[in-house]
Amino acid sequence: MLFVVVVCPACKRVQVAEARTARPSCRACGKPFELTSRKAFYQGEDADEARRVAAKVALQVGGAGIEAVAESAAASERERVASLEDVVRALSRRAEFTAEDVTDELRRLRVTSTAERVVEALRRENRLYEPRSGRFRWVSSLDA
Ligand SMILES: [Zn+2]
Repeated sequence: MLFVVVVCPACKRVQVAEARTARPSCRACGKPFELTSRKAFYQGEDADEARRVAAKVALQVGGAGIEAVAESAAASERERVASLEDVVRALSRRAEFTAEDVTDELRRLRVTSTAERVVEALRRENRLYEPRSGRFRWVSSLDA
């Protein structure tokens, strides 16, 4: 399956679409648009990578929210992506945090993920590092 990360021409929400759908409807505003007329920020078969790129692009364009959704992906996947950034936002207030802090935020925000998965994802994106075992810090903090 081929995924494409595009911005809706009407509402500017970033989203993941399936390339086989030539005229998808926007996940946020529902308006259909021509896929080929949109700039593709990512095109490939890796759904996780597509969502990662979509999340990054959403931050860059300063969208109100992250609409990183594959056409065929379950709604829970959409929740997971949006919520992960919520967890990051909550944790970004701390200079240093532990896996237990991540777990607390996940529980508070009702995100169905594990601290391990979150840390692993953020580490893969070079967003955090582990100065001491079990202690995490942000590579660059927004409020630094
Ligand atoms: Zn839209």
